[in-house]
Amino acid sequence: MHNASADHQPQPVAIQHVTILGATGTIGVQTLDVISQHAERFKVFALTASTNVKGLFDLCKQYAPQYAVMLHSEAAAELAIQLKAIGSNTIVLQGEDALSEVAAHEQVDVVMAAIVGAAGLHPAMAAARAGKRILLANKETLVMAGNLFMQAVAEGGATLLPIDSEHNAIFQVMPHQRSKHLADMGVKRVLLTASGGPFRHASLAELQAVTRAQALNHPNWVMGPKITIDSATMMNKGLEVIEAHWLFNASPAQIEVVVHPQSVIHSMVEYIDGSVLAQLGNPDMRTPIAYGLGYPDRLASGVGSLDLLKIGQLDFCAPDPMRFPCLRLAYEALTAGGTAPAILNAANEIAVEAFLAETIGFMDIPVIIESILSASQIEEVASIEQLVAVDAQARQSATRWLKNRS
Ligand code: NDP
Ligand code: MG
Repeated sequence: MHNASADHQPQPVAIQHVTILGATGTIGVQTLDVISQHAERFKVFALTASTNVKGLFDLCKQYAPQYAVMLHSEAAAELAIQLKAIGSNTIVLQGEDALSEVAAHEQVDVVMAAIVGAAGLHPAMAAARAGKRILLANKETLVMAGNLFMQAVAEGGATLLPIDSEHNAIFQVMPHQRSKHLADMGVKRVLLTASGGPFRHASLAELQAVTRAQALNHPNWVMGPKITIDSATMMNKGLEVIEAHWLFNASPAQIEVVVHPQSVIHSMVEYIDGSVLAQLGNPDMRTPIAYGLGYPDRLASGVGSLDLLKIGQLDFCAPDPMRFPCLRLAYEALTAGGTAPAILNAANEIAVEAFLAETIGFMDIPVIIESILSASQIEEVASIEQLVAVDAQARQSATRWLKNRS
């Protein structure tokens, strides 16, 4: 007979061991915030950073991971000294290979991939091949190597959960019985919302004069510097179009970008019967992070209730391709296929670095990317090694372009 009282017994959950790649970044820190709220479910296995010794030291002190990885050797040596001085048992590793090792380690269940840029590709691939649950924030992995990464996820038996808020929203409102083709699920298209960034209303002349400080001041989200600049140029949305293509097997024509300044609707899926399903919430990355950590369960994230009455109004408009050419360039790279998105991504990373270093203007960013893309040979993607070479070549061309101009 059915025992009603047994239904109310809390289910014991197996502890999940988590590696956080890019632990000192904004996504890394917010992931640890959610994990701290569920200490009975998660144990931190490894934390990684590039150069931020102080940041990783503080996190190691608080979370006592088994491993800490720093990309650079001097930083690793410094971290090891500091941890030893406080009697910590955390083992400090160093270098790119160590990032992949802690992502693929047999004791790890969940990997948060939150390194910024192309540097996140190898460890994300390692997690995919090792069949982990991957919480993917690092969109550049899909932009550079979408085909190979999705293949590695399938072959490695990994579970891929998108953390980018738009893709997480789409994932939440897609049918859970997945089919390879959108049409088989009755899906007509996906609608990616975009805040429009801080320069939504700026004229072309104003955009030419945008400063670093202005571009770093995003109206709705607090994020690392690279993605904040990408949001201001709308390259972020362009990268997300490519990300959506790989995650949901959507053609460029099936992905529409809608500017929605309040960032309350995180994205939508339109079905063939005219239904449009949306996921809403306060703009706080702890919601998609908690979704990824808990899936298929729901976990509290610390995010407050959405107060629609206070928000009052939700607005929508079309993106302007004249003022935001980066979005057009990303659609073109996706349509061109092959190595084009990897070249777009590499040129963008160099251009954003130069803008952050205040050596180029805001509207030079799309000019550099377009010029590198149009001068590059687009090839079919055959291997990760090829993509790494294409990425390096595009960076060199972009760097040379910058030198010749100055
Ligand atoms: P941050 O710049 O805040 O953090 C980046 C993290 O990666 C830091 O831990 C940094 O270490 C580490 N890192 C940087 N370069 C390297 C490298 N070469 N090798 C290894 N580690 C490196 O970025 P965010 O947290 O904002 O973004 C992370 C990723 O998530 C990006 O791909 C972004 O597009 C994506 N994302 C972010 C969102 C957000 O709200 N922030 C939303 C959606 C997606 P150190 O501190 O030592 O430099
Ligand atoms: Mg996003």
